[in-house]
Amino acid sequence: MEIQCSEKELFLFRKIAHAAAELNVPAYLVGGFVRDRLLGRASKDADIVCVGDGIALAQAVADRCRPVPPVAVFKNFGTASIRLDGFDIEFVGARKESYRYHSRNPDVQPGTMEEDQLRRDFTINAMAVSLNAGDYGRLVDPFDGVGDLERRLIRTPMAPDQTFSDDPLRMMRAIRFASQLGFSIDTKTWEGLCLQAERIRIISQERITEEFNKILLSEKPSVGLDLLYRSGLLSIIFPQLVDLAGAQYVDGMGHKDNFYHTLQVVDNIAPHTGDLWLRWAALLHDIGKPATKRFEQGHGWTFHGHEVVGGRMVPKIFGKMKLPLNERMKYVKKLVELHLRPISLTKEEITDSAIRRLLFDAGDDIDDLMTLCDADITSKNRQKVKRFKENFELVRQRLHAVEEKDRIRNWQPPVTGEMIMQVFGLRPGRIVGDIKNAIREAILDGEIENNFDAAYDLMIRKAADMNLHPVQ
Ligand code: ATP
Repeated sequence: MEIQCSEKELFLFRKIAHAAAELNVPAYLVGGFVRDRLLGRASKDADIVCVGDGIALAQAVADRCRPVPPVAVFKNFGTASIRLDGFDIEFVGARKESYRYHSRNPDVQPGTMEEDQLRRDFTINAMAVSLNAGDYGRLVDPFDGVGDLERRLIRTPMAPDQTFSDDPLRMMRAIRFASQLGFSIDTKTWEGLCLQAERIRIISQERITEEFNKILLSEKPSVGLDLLYRSGLLSIIFPQLVDLAGAQYVDGMGHKDNFYHTLQVVDNIAPHTGDLWLRWAALLHDIGKPATKRFEQGHGWTFHGHEVVGGRMVPKIFGKMKLPLNERMKYVKKLVELHLRPISLTKEEITDSAIRRLLFDAGDDIDDLMTLCDADITSKNRQKVKRFKENFELVRQRLHAVEEKDRIRNWQPPVTGEMIMQVFGLRPGRIVGDIKNAIREAILDGEIENNFDAAYDLMIRKAADMNLHPVQ
């Protein structure tokens, strides 16, 4: 395996090497950058460890650059970083760590390079490249990280139990790397992880969510989500997802395992979007199923209203996960609520009015909703999937045609509430709302044309039914 770097990076590393030599401190490139470049993956940051004062080295490197970049110093952590050409370089002195039971934040002391590598979480993250005159460019790989990259394995350098107990966030990181890189977790490491799952409770929600989001954004999120489930971590950090697992049988009739169905949907959507929130919508689309599950005699399992119940669960889950409670949350809620609509259209005679309603309700999110629904088609029966997909394509075409014709997406009815109030001398209130709704419904149902004259005419007629007449 070879480290692949750009000319610019090589130039920069030379500069760091010169600055380190001048200060007489050994320096190394370490961690994620080395791992990613051995794998031929891109990375936007690099960590430099020196056996000495990291902040002083950062300053010396900055002084060698033109123009001199600002150095961000984090005194409490003994680190400093510089941003050059969109590339973040972090400098820190080599350290050794010792942990106390109730915190993941270790006591830190200056240490040797060997001690610094030993404190790192996984063998593939503990490799370093020398930036020193004697052996510039040599890979320092004390735990056979290269071997694990080749074996595609996540493994802790030290006893897994201790590693995960010391800093339980590493359990999330192990699973995140397995999911991002498509690696397996070494058997002993996995056993240690499962044993320590309960320890995740000492980690802040923000940290957990950061790793969870990275898992969700990986190429095949089911890898990480399934590992979270099997390790016992998921039932602690996200019990609602675990409630989806398993299939119940009554009179020999079962339903599908909604957890694995959800994982399949998330995997299905992954190649079509790198948007975190659309992936969240895929993850939560059936979250209301356990609460709505019923067995109806002679009919089988039903989940009536699970999209409404699921939608209602979204704000709570976002709150607990410390995700933003803003437009992003509303977007996920809306997609969860609407996720059955396009599919239901494939089962009936598709009327223009049903299409217009869907366009109106989904607005600008219609394409995302269609992507979600497409991913939701997961039957094992190939014929069924084929038939569904064909009908679904028909819905897509009709959506396109109706939108071309009626421009319902992002549409507001041509007569506004203010206009109704003005014409009839009304104050804001129910009557105004009733007239406005009647106009909107009539247009969506195709009873009147989608234009001002038709809407105005209907407004006059509706008002007359209520004994209201224009004031002038
Ligand atoms: P990514 O950039 O994808 O998050 P990374 O490996 O660069 O991956 P960072 O969080 O930037 O992750 O950490 C940089 C390095 O610091 C890691 O490669 C690892 O050597 C070490 N490290 C980070 N977090 C921990 C931890 N919790 N325990 C031990 N070592 C860690």
